[in-house]
Amino acid sequence: MTKIEIALAGNPNSGKTSTFNSLTGSNQFVGNWPGVTVERKSGFLKKNKNVELHDLPGIYSMSPYTPEEIVARDYLLVQRPNVILDVVDATNLERNLYLTTQLMETGIPVVIALNMIDILEKQKRTLNIEKLSYGLGIPVIATSALKGRGLNQAVTKAIKVAQDYESEPQYPTYDNRLEAALAEMLDVLGSTVPTRQARWFAIKLFERDEQVLQTLDLSSLQKKEIEEIIKITEKVFNDDAESIVVNQRYEFITQLVALCSSEKQEIRFTISDKIDRIVTNRFLALPIFALVMWLVYYVSIQTVGTMGTDWVNDELFGSLIPDTVSHWLEVWQVAPWMQSLILDGIIAGCGAVLGFLPQIAVLFLCLGILEDCGYMSRVAFVMDRLFRKFGLSGKSFIPMLIATGCGVPGVMASRTIENEKDRKITIMVTTFMPCSAKLPIIALIAGAFFPHSSWVAPSAYLVGISAIILSGIALKKTKLFAGDTSPFIMELPSYHMPGWKNVFRYSFERSKSFAKKAGTIIFVMNIVIWFLSSYSFTLQAVETNDSILAHLGRAVAPIFAPLGWGNWQGTVATITGLVAKETVVGTFGVLFKGLDEVSENGSEVWGSLQATFTAVSAYSFLVFNLLCAPCFAAIGAIHREMNDIKWTVMAISYQCGLAYLVSFVIYQFGSVLVEGRHLNIGTGLAAFVVLFILYAIFKKPVKKEKEVLSLATFEKA
Ligand code: GDP
Repeated sequence: MTKIEIALAGNPNSGKTSTFNSLTGSNQFVGNWPGVTVERKSGFLKKNKNVELHDLPGIYSMSPYTPEEIVARDYLLVQRPNVILDVVDATNLERNLYLTTQLMETGIPVVIALNMIDILEKQKRTLNIEKLSYGLGIPVIATSALKGRGLNQAVTKAIKVAQDYESEPQYPTYDNRLEAALAEMLDVLGSTVPTRQARWFAIKLFERDEQVLQTLDLSSLQKKEIEEIIKITEKVFNDDAESIVVNQRYEFITQLVALCSSEKQEIRFTISDKIDRIVTNRFLALPIFALVMWLVYYVSIQTVGTMGTDWVNDELFGSLIPDTVSHWLEVWQVAPWMQSLILDGIIAGCGAVLGFLPQIAVLFLCLGILEDCGYMSRVAFVMDRLFRKFGLSGKSFIPMLIATGCGVPGVMASRTIENEKDRKITIMVTTFMPCSAKLPIIALIAGAFFPHSSWVAPSAYLVGISAIILSGIALKKTKLFAGDTSPFIMELPSYHMPGWKNVFRYSFERSKSFAKKAGTIIFVMNIVIWFLSSYSFTLQAVETNDSILAHLGRAVAPIFAPLGWGNWQGTVATITGLVAKETVVGTFGVLFKGLDEVSENGSEVWGSLQATFTAVSAYSFLVFNLLCAPCFAAIGAIHREMNDIKWTVMAISYQCGLAYLVSFVIYQFGSVLVEGRHLNIGTGLAAFVVLFILYAIFKKPVKKEKEVLSLATFEKA
C-alpha cells in the first residue's frame, strides 16, 4: 500500500485533537509550522503505519487573515494531502459546514467525521446523516471522539476515498447567477490552473483574493476579463463579490441543514446553558473567575507545584545529587575546576531547569482541565471586552496572573491564546509582573532605603501592571502588531467532564517541550555565568570580586550611571540576576561583605547599600530589575513560545529598553524633585522620554497592509 496522507481539518473545539490523539495514540510528533508559532502535529495511524495524519490548526474559514488560516490553507494547496478528514461539530452544524464548503472546493477529496454525536443524542436531537451526505455529495460518518465511537470507520472511509482519488471532486453548487460567473471565470483561466483546483481558483479570484492572484501568472487581458465578470455579477446581485460568496455559502448550508433536520427543534435549555447563566452572569462572572484562577494559582504556584519545585531545588538538586556527586568526585580526586564545573555549573544548571517542572506540570494540568471542560472559552468571553481595550486578549489575563508566582509558567500559559499577535504581545509583557523571585529585591530596597513606608511593594506591582497595559496599547499601534483584529467568533462549547487522557497528554507535552527547548538555553547560560563569575581573565579560579564578571561589571557600569547607579556592584548583581532573580540579594552579600549567605531581605548589606546608592537611585535600580530581561529560565520559555530567535531578541530588547527608559525618568526626575538637584540636561532628556512614551501611547494606530504570504515560500518542514 502506498503512503496516504490524511489532513484533519475543522473549526476550533470541533474535536480534532481528541480525534487525532485517539487515532494516533503515542505515534505522534509535535512541532511548529515553519515560520509561525502555530503548533504542528503529525502522527501515524495506530493500526497502519502507512497512513500519516496531519492535525491542521483549528480554523473557521480559509481566508488568509490569521496565521492559522494561512498555515492550513497553504498546507492544503501546496502539499495536497490525499484526503481531508473534516471534523464537524454536529451541535454547531451551520458554522462548521461553512469551512466544509471551502475544504471541498480545494479539489481534495473530503470525508466528514460528524463529531459530538453523543451530545446530540443526549439532547435528543436527530439529524438525517444520509441526507446530509447526499446533499453534500461526500461521505459522512457519525463519530464521538470523546467516546472513541466511529473513528475507525471514518478513517477507513477516508483511506478508501483517497485510494479512489481519480473520481470527480464534489462541490456545493450555488445560485445560477454566481455559477454562470464562475463558469465564465473558468473559461478565462483555461489551463492556467490544475483542473482539480480550478473551482477553488475561480472562487478565490472572484473574491478578489490578492494572495491567490499573486501566485498565478495571469496575463493582463485575463485579469481585465476577470474583473469585468466580477463587476457585472456585483451589479446583478447588488452586493460586493466577497459578500456574494459568503451569502451563497450560507444559503447553501441553510437549505442543507433544513433538509437533514427532519423535525422542528424546540429550544431547550441544557444543563450547560444553566451553568452558563451563572458563570457568565454580569455580576457573578468576575468573582467566579477570580475564584477559579485563585485556585489554579494556589494549587500550581503555592502548594502542590511548589512542593515539588522546592523538593527538586532543595532536596534533589540542593543536597541529594550534589552531595553524592561531590563525594565521588572527592573519592576519585577529580581536579577542583572540574568539580566546580560539574557541581556549580552542570548540576546547578540542570537543577535550574528541572526545578520548574513540577510547577509547570501542575499548572498545565489545571489549565488543561479548564480548557477541556469548556470553562476557558468562558474566561476569554468574560475578560475579552476589558482586555481588548489595551490590545490584549481575554486570555492574556491568565499568563499575567500566573507570572506573579513565576514568569516561566506564566509565559507558557500564553499558549492558550489563539491569535498569534495577541500571544506575542502577551509573551513580551507577561514578565513585567513581579514574580516571587523578585520579592527579595523589593524587600532589600524597601528595607534599606524606605524602612517606614508601605508603598514600595505595592508600587512594584503598579509599575508592572502599568508597563503591561501601556505596552499593550503602544505595541498594538506599531506596524508589527497592527492589523484588523480577526473577527471575534466565540462559541461556547457545552460543559462536560474533562477527558483525562487528553488533559494528561496536554500537561506532559508542555512540560516536555519546556525541558527540551527552554532547558537548553537555561543550562548553557548558567554554565557561562558560572564560568564568568569563577574565573579571572588568566583562567585562574578567583573570588567573584576579581572574576571576569566583576571586570565586565566595571566596564559596563557607566551605562547605568544615567539611572543613578553606575557602580559595578549593582551592575554585577543585575547580571547575575539573569541566572535567577533570587541571586541579586545574594550577590550584594558576596560583593560588599564576602558573605556566602545573607538573610532573605539582605539586612547584612543595608549599610553598604546606603553608602553606595541614594534612595532615588536605589528605587531606580529596583524598577530596572523588575522590568528588564527576566531570568534565563523565563528567557528560555519566551524563546520556546516565540519559536524564533529574532522575536526572542526583540522581546528581551524591548523589556531592557523599557526598563532603562523608565528607570532613567525615575532617577532624573527623582533626583531633582526629592534630592534637590538642579535642573540639568538629564532632566530635559527625561522630559523628552516621557513625551516619547506619551506619543507611543496616544498616536494613531498604523494601518496595516494585507498580509501576503506567497504560497511558493511554503516548504515542507
Ligand atoms: P479541537 O480544538 O478541535 O482540537 O478540539 P478538542 O479535541 O480539544 O475538543 C474540544 C472539547 O470537546 C474537548 O473538551 C473534548 O473533550 C470535547 N470533545 C471532543 N470530541 C467530543 C465528542 O465527540 N463528544 C463530546 N461530548 N465531547 C467531545
